Amino acid sequence: MKTSLAIPVVSTKKSRLPETDFSNLVFGKTISDHMFVADYKNGEWTDLRIEPFAPLELSPANATLHYGQSIFEGLKAYRNEEGEVLVFRADANWSRMNESAERMCMPSIPEEIFMEGLVQLLELDKDWVPHAKGSSLYIRPYMFAMDNYIGVKPSETYKFIIFTCPVGNYYSKPVSVKVETEFTRATEGGTGAAKTAGNYAASLYPALRAQKAGYDQLLWTDGKSHSKIEESGTMNVMFKINGTIITAPINSGTILKGITRNSVLQLAKDWNQPVEERFLTVSELETALIEGTLEEAFGTGTAATIAHIERIQVNGKDYILPQKPADAFSHRVLAELDGIKYGSIEDPHHWIIKI
Ligand SMILES: *Cc1c(COP(=O)(O)O)cnc(C)c1O
Repeated sequence: MKTSLAIPVVSTKKSRLPETDFSNLVFGKTISDHMFVADYKNGEWTDLRIEPFAPLELSPANATLHYGQSIFEGLKAYRNEEGEVLVFRADANWSRMNESAERMCMPSIPEEIFMEGLVQLLELDKDWVPHAKGSSLYIRPYMFAMDNYIGVKPSETYKFIIFTCPVGNYYSKPVSVKVETEFTRATEGGTGAAKTAGNYAASLYPALRAQKAGYDQLLWTDGKSHSKIEESGTMNVMFKINGTIITAPINSGTILKGITRNSVLQLAKDWNQPVEERFLTVSELETALIEGTLEEAFGTGTAATIAHIERIQVNGKDYILPQKPADAFSHRVLAELDGIKYGSIEDPHHWIIKI
């Protein structure tokens, strides 16, 4: 991509690349050499820069630490056969970040700052994009309040940062999930549609309880009646029942607008695969499991792309899903998305930008 913003760069004196074991990457632990930083003050984004990834200095009175004005994004870059670096749907992450910002009373980020910060960071750290098949570079843009003030009000200053993490072949083994009918992730009028820190803090306790009971993840239900399936962890969820894909709609304000979700639905449309964007009720799910009409269940999200679900607990009872045939929708859609991301097949929807 051609860039035009002049972003000053301070390069690291000692790259951590030589000591990085790319065959042993733990998701989110290995971080690349540099980060992009911008500061918001006096009503504008200033002091754009790329500098070595390093600890920040924060006042103990930093507003984020107390009141949680903090939002984030997650996307990935991939290396194609020619060794070039491709980024998947970064424009969608930019616009979703601004939707989160609005809900949390934070300033929006101009597209130019988001995209050029990202592209110029990736140009500098391109050697951090792994070469091994199935691996990628996870990109974490985020923004948080920087006022040093004890009192609940929107901050007047913010920091926007992008850093990246090389991640290994994210083979996700099929997961087991439990329908959660006691705790709530999001309610109408709340912040469920924003990628904001507090949503994830609130999910830790119920998720841990489910893990102790032997499940990988929760299937969240609506906060009012706990009778409708919403989403799971950091993934949207889809069910294929009697040939139709069913997934929660995104207009309730309680569902995160997943970009993977959107991409899967676009491919389903391209393939004339019937889709219903509506809430699946817990009792419908239970009936489908009992009658054997649930053909596939899977999560969609940037980390795994598709996470197959193999076991579901509903009303205290465990159900094992049937073995999926090789040409199951979730297998085909994963192969198609991987093909587009790694540049091995055509990209008809212009989802890829080349660095
Ligand atoms: C990030 C996230 C998703 C998935 O979004 P993608 O853009 O597909 O990665 C789904 N649900 C929640 C709660 C999330 O935070």
